[in-house]
Amino acid sequence: MKIEMVDLKGQYIKIKEEINIEIRQVLDDAQFIGGAQVKEFSSELARYMTAGNVITCANGTDALQIALMALNLERGDEVILPAFTYAATAEVVALLGLVPVLADVSPDSFNIETTNLPQLISERTKVIMPVHLYGQSAEMESVQDLARRYGLKVIEDNAQSIGADYTFSNGNSKRCGTIGDIGCTSFFPSKNLGCFGDGGALFTEDDELAERLRMIANHGQRLKYKHDIVGCNSRLDTIQAAILRIKLSYLDSYIAARREASRLYRELLSDIEEVVLPAESQRSTHVYHQFTIRCQRRDELKEFLHNKGVPSMVYYPIPIHRQRAFSDIAVIRGDLSVAERLCEEVLSLPMHTELTADQQGFIANNIRKFYR
Ligand SMILES: *Cc1c(COP(=O)(O)O)cnc(C)c1O
Repeated sequence: MKIEMVDLKGQYIKIKEEINIEIRQVLDDAQFIGGAQVKEFSSELARYMTAGNVITCANGTDALQIALMALNLERGDEVILPAFTYAATAEVVALLGLVPVLADVSPDSFNIETTNLPQLISERTKVIMPVHLYGQSAEMESVQDLARRYGLKVIEDNAQSIGADYTFSNGNSKRCGTIGDIGCTSFFPSKNLGCFGDGGALFTEDDELAERLRMIANHGQRLKYKHDIVGCNSRLDTIQAAILRIKLSYLDSYIAARREASRLYRELLSDIEEVVLPAESQRSTHVYHQFTIRCQRRDELKEFLHNKGVPSMVYYPIPIHRQRAFSDIAVIRGDLSVAERLCEEVLSLPMHTELTADQQGFIANNIRKFYR
C-alpha cells in the first residue's frame, strides 16, 4: 500500500482540467506579474475570510516580515512568540533586529500558553505573535485582552489554519487570521490552501495599515518610482493566483475531508493507551493541517512505521531556543518545558484530502502492532 504524507498529485488529478485551462489562460495573456487573477483572488479570499483587506505576497515568511515592518518598531523591541513553532516565526523577528521572547505552549492545544504571558512582558514588548498551529486557533480572546491591556500589537501566524473559526465568549466568531491587527498566511503547496509554488497573504481590518503593507510589499512605493518607505519585493505571481482561485473554491470540501480523516483516526486509535490524540479546543474549529499525536517511544515508532511503508513527520523536533541560529538571540523569561517535551513526543501522521479509510486502517494497525 502506497501512503503519502501529503498527496498533492492525487488532489491535482481531480481538478486537472480546470487548473490547466486557467494556467493556459495566463500563458496566453502573458501577464505573469500583476495579472487580473491576482486581484480577483484577493477579493475572493477577502470574502471567504470576511477580511477587510487582503494583501498578497510571495510566501508566508515574507508575510510575517512585512507585517513586522509595517508596525514602526525599533531595533531591540521585543516580540513574544511560542517556542514551539516553525523557525520562520522567530526568523523574521531576528532578521529585523527585534528580540524574540519565547513563550511556552499548552500541552493540549500545542498553542501559546496565555496564562503566563504577563510575566514575559517588559517595557520593550511591542508585539505578540500567536501561531495557530496544526489547524486550530490559539486562545485569541486572552491574547487580545492582554494586547489591549499592555498596548501591544498582535500578528497572527495563520500559515496552518486558514478556514478555522474562533468563537469569543460573547458568541462572536471570527476567522483565524482576521482577529489580531494583522494576520499572515502561506500558500506553500502542502498547506491547506496551497498553490504550485510559493505564495502568501496578509489580512487586516485597518485600511491605513493595509495601504502600508501594500507599499512595503512593493518596494515602499505608492506611485511607480516614488519610494516613500524602505520596503521589499514580495508578490504573488499570476499563475499562482489563477491556481489559488480554483483551489479556494474547494477549500471547504478539503477541510471537510481532513476533518473526516481525523474523525476516523480518532476512532481507529482510541484503544491505544500509549497514544494521546490531539485535543480539540472548545473555542476553535479544527481544520487539521496536521493530525499530531503525542506518543511514547516516538522515534522508535516513527522508524517502525517507516519500515512498514507509513510516512510520519516530527513537527518540530527542536524548540526555537535550542536552535543554534536563535540560541544567542532568543530571550527566555520563564519555563519552556512543555515545548521541550512536545519536541520529543509529537508525531504527525499522514493527513491530506485524498487519504482513504483503507490507508488509515493500515496506519492504525501498524501503530497498534508496535505497542503490542
Ligand atoms: C509554512 C509556515 C510558515 C512559512 O510559510 P512559507 O510560505 O513557507 O514561507 C510560517 N509559519 C508557520 C507556522 C508555517 O507553518
